[in-house]
Amino acid sequence: MLFDLLERLSSLTRVWFREHPLLTDLQPIQLSALMYLGRCNRYSDTPLAVTEYLGLTKGTVSQSLKALESKGLLIKRPDARDKRSVHLMLTPPAQALLDAVTPPDFLVAAAGRMGADAVVLEGLLLELLRNIQQGEDVPGFGLCRTCRFHQTVAGGAFCGLTQESLEPREIELICREHQTPDPA
Ligand code: SF4
Repeated sequence: MLFDLLERLSSLTRVWFREHPLLTDLQPIQLSALMYLGRCNRYSDTPLAVTEYLGLTKGTVSQSLKALESKGLLIKRPDARDKRSVHLMLTPPAQALLDAVTPPDFLVAAAGRMGADAVVLEGLLLELLRNIQQGEDVPGFGLCRTCRFHQTVAGGAFCGLTQESLEPREIELICREHQTPDPA
């Protein structure tokens, strides 16, 4: 039953994106890469991280990233410390596109109609995801503020793993290094 519900919701979402007039020029995988890059932090915006997040082959992701670059939706920026490594940055048109199509209108409307129940549901789905990540060998990719390395130092957010300060907006982003706190 749970699987049927998740599958139906995924299917509705896929169809909604496929039929959106602003997305006729984008393949589903290209949109998925854009959505990930719009939500990930600076440790997670590499081609390898996109590949791991989407669970696809390097070649497939590489082709999609090239296509996004040629459409002017993505630029590559060399890492300041390691010149062999690149970061993938969304361009302003890509950000504007994501702002226009996410989250899907039908989902926002339904959540609005559900009111407080939608907040409860979101918490339960987060619990489901955490449970799966703890029980299976899947890459972390969690929200920074829920990570066991997340700390507050001198009143600001701080990453205990990289030993770097985090900007307030970064704690709401997805990180490939995320680790779920041990249960108390
Ligand atoms: S605190 Fe965790 S999730 Fe946040 S940047 Fe550090 S490793 Fe990533």
